[in-house]
Amino acid sequence: MNAEAIKRSLESGGLRCTPQRYAVMAFLTECKRHPTAAEIFEAVNRVDPRSSRATTYNNLRDLVQAGLVREVAVEGRAARFDAKGMRHHHFICDRCGNVEDIEWYNVRRPASRSLGKRILRECELIFRGLCIKCAQRRASG
Ligand SMILES: [Zn+2]
Ligand SMILES: [Zn+2]
Repeated sequence: MNAEAIKRSLESGGLRCTPQRYAVMAFLTECKRHPTAAEIFEAVNRVDPRSSRATTYNNLRDLVQAGLVREVAVEGRAARFDAKGMRHHHFICDRCGNVEDIEWYNVRRPASRSLGKRILRECELIFRGLCIKCAQRRASG
């Protein structure tokens, strides 16, 4: 995503394009590692040392609420964040907590009677297990 596209996506989410917000969004669209909020703050702070931790975290929350960024909850560990560019599912490693992308495919919607009056926006899957590194470690050890 280029600068103009990032700016447009912020505006489409109803957010003003402040330099700090832009920096958070730009980092997330580039970073494929699903960083934690702390890692995002470090990266943004490296570019613009004036941005405070509170501002970064607030911007992150705004981006999640606007539907531009996805929060991937990892039990017992800090949540990871991901720009919603291409749709994809996630794989979370039980051992190291690594979050990886799984190519998107459509998931069958639950039966409407199990949804009741809930309104379904999207269906995404989280696969769990051992990542390649941890699986190799287990095989060799
Ligand atoms: Zn792992
Ligand atoms: Zn992802």
